[in-house]
Amino acid sequence: MPEIPDLEVIKDFLNERIAGQEVVRAEAPKAWIVRSLAAEHFEQDVIGRRFGTITRLGKDLVFPLDPDRLLVANLMLTGRFQYTEPSHRVPKGMFFLLGTADADLRYLDSRSMGRIHYVRPDQLDQIQRLQDQGPDALDGGVTYEEFKQRLRSYTGEIKGVLARGKLLAGIGNAYVDEILWEARVSPFRKRKTLTEDELRQVYDAIPKVLREATEVVRREMPPNIHIKVRDFLSVHRKGGEPCPRCGTTISEITPNQRITSWCRTCQPGGLIKN
Ligand SMILES: [Zn+2]
Repeated sequence: MPEIPDLEVIKDFLNERIAGQEVVRAEAPKAWIVRSLAAEHFEQDVIGRRFGTITRLGKDLVFPLDPDRLLVANLMLTGRFQYTEPSHRVPKGMFFLLGTADADLRYLDSRSMGRIHYVRPDQLDQIQRLQDQGPDALDGGVTYEEFKQRLRSYTGEIKGVLARGKLLAGIGNAYVDEILWEARVSPFRKRKTLTEDELRQVYDAIPKVLREATEVVRREMPPNIHIKVRDFLSVHRKGGEPCPRCGTTISEITPNQRITSWCRTCQPGGLIKN
């Protein structure tokens, strides 16, 4: 699932290319993926509108289609935007495309997991996932005191608390592994057992990890914004490889079908042995 670094790069890449451009073609072979609250037929309604400046709300990208429409996309696990010349072969699994004079913005999704809404600006508050998420993990973020205050309502393991998006929006399974490795805190530690120093380390690691990763993704992803760039990560999905900090073999388990990767030496404790 794309997280802040991926989404920041996708957003900036598309803003340089499609902001201000008119939608001159629209195809939606699988229009049902788009929950349209603004018009009965999304693909007809969108023609002639102009892309405004794309913004990011947590893990959602918001595409203004001026005047008075927004396409709000949460790519979830398998959604992808592809930006390409119209002559480029249309892949199977394309749900819709919005064409400008010289390019296609295509939405692909191998397992139909993305959540896409097409709304008027005054309908934005009807998208429940946007109401449920916490403040952005990067954009403005929260102060350290607010971070601690917000954490008090959660009792579970720190990985789950951070990855759910209610505490802070825009981070998930991959970057929470990276943040906790940077902070030297085990993903399985219960929130209540974390010391003041450890809480501070986690808080400080969030913008550091996200900013550094954004720079790497910015160098490696464009123009293939439909490809996920994750090979540079320190621990996430690096089970069996040496920890870049201490050389210990990185551990990996998959509780609830979500991979967690961590270094038992740098991030000790928290895991109940079975
Ligand atoms: Zn280590």
